[in-house]
Amino acid sequence: EIQTIYAITPTYSRLEQKADLIRLSQTLMHVEHFHWVVVEDSNFKTALVTNLLSESGLNFTHLNNITPIEFQKGALAGKSSRGVQQRNAGLDWLRQTLHHGENKGVVYFMDDDNTYDIRIFQEMRYTKRVSVWPVGLVGGAIYESPIVKNGKVTGWFTGWGPHREFAIDMAGFAVNLDLVHSHPNARFSYSTKPGNLEGAILKAMGADISHLEPKANNCTQVLVWHTKTSKTELTTDKKLDNLEV
Ligand code: UDP
Ligand code: MN
Repeated sequence: EIQTIYAITPTYSRLEQKADLIRLSQTLMHVEHFHWVVVEDSNFKTALVTNLLSESGLNFTHLNNITPIEFQKGALAGKSSRGVQQRNAGLDWLRQTLHHGENKGVVYFMDDDNTYDIRIFQEMRYTKRVSVWPVGLVGGAIYESPIVKNGKVTGWFTGWGPHREFAIDMAGFAVNLDLVHSHPNARFSYSTKPGNLEGAILKAMGADISHLEPKANNCTQVLVWHTKTSKTELTTDKKLDNLEV
């Protein structure tokens, strides 16, 4: 049986959102057996995301869940992790909607501005517990990667924090849906230091370095990049009456 990939993507309103989501959704049009769980950081479902999803033809679930005010930009700006509340909403949806043992799947946390080679989905599709692979342009480095010896992950090649138990970016791993079901309390938390969400969720799901399944030809290929869309600094906000954003 082919495992469906359930990708959870937090997204928030900004000038570049539509461009980022168009690029991502058109990548995903090339992926079969895929279900996109898009979680808006908002009190409501916006027309932009609603229309984009329905026009995409993708299998999707559209949710919204706003970041608590104390963790939004403000006092703690830049100090809290982003996407925590939204990824948890995605996990809740998976646990409530899919049945343990019945639906075979793989769960992947996809940020809305990264760049994905469609071959990464074929790599993660066969995840038994937790699969891992390199991520480009992340952590201040050209790439970060699990270090693989004789087909086993033995450590981490990283740009920072090499002593983290799982020194890996969100884009660099996927977990089997069974693990999400069998660890019902595994959630992201705002009290986790930024940069440690990945390790925290993997630990909460009972992952152990000895079990990790290296993908992308034993972690020798970069198939996903932690790109960041630069913020457009408007010098005018003039618009035409007959041209939508
Ligand atoms: N995000 C969000 N609300 C925010 C900021 C970010 O939902 O206030 C989402 C964003 O759309 C992305 C993920 O959280 O899918 C990670 O955010 P970002 O790409 O800004 O983080 P970085 O790549 O810099 O770690
Ligand atoms: Mn990003």
